[in-house]
Amino acid sequence: MKIVLATGNLHKRDELNKILSEHTLILPKDLGIDIDVEESGTTYIENSLIKAKELFKLCGGLPVLADDSGISVKALNGAPGVYSARYGEKEFGRELTASEKNSLLLKNMDGITDRSADFVCCMALILDENRIFTVQETFSGLVADRPYGNGGFGYDPVFFSPEFNKTAAELTDDEKNRVSHRGKAGKIINELLRSL
Ligand code: IMP
Repeated sequence: MKIVLATGNLHKRDELNKILSEHTLILPKDLGIDIDVEESGTTYIENSLIKAKELFKLCGGLPVLADDSGISVKALNGAPGVYSARYGEKEFGRELTASEKNSLLLKNMDGITDRSADFVCCMALILDENRIFTVQETFSGLVADRPYGNGGFGYDPVFFSPEFNKTAAELTDDEKNRVSHRGKAGKIINELLRSL
């Protein structure tokens, strides 16, 4: 099935291409669509639906999939959570690089012993205006003491998986997709599409 992806994040696109390999994923720009949606929700589900619905209006009936994701840290009351992409933006007055966001997270976790964190991914799939599905999954781990590894993207270098004894940035693509928030949500989307 051809599915339009409501994201400009090429890292997410690359992961989703592998996770949803039975399908052909198209970016809005491939259809000549330039879209920048304000993620005004306070939950992953709200934001994924906002992105999917806005894009669906422009796609001439093609199915649309949105991914809203982030890292929720228990000791920080779930922060940065849905604001993961914008972490530190208010404090610094500009968008931080991934490595600056990781440094800020490590600084905010300084001296904190409970380092439990969840990567969370909510996918919203719209097949037509009345057929809308959401799936939210998690990848549980710990905030590392410093960054490790060069793979992945975003918070991967500071997200330690006790199961692998490595950070997400040290996992192979296949290892990450097998256990990650995005991998697990995508697996359910695959099963859902096969069952319809
Ligand atoms: P959004 O879904 O566009 O709001 O952005 C999610 C942000 O969460 C990304 O910019 C990343 O910083 C972070 N994020 C989401 N999924 C992952 C992941 O698998 N690894 C590392 N960081 C992630």
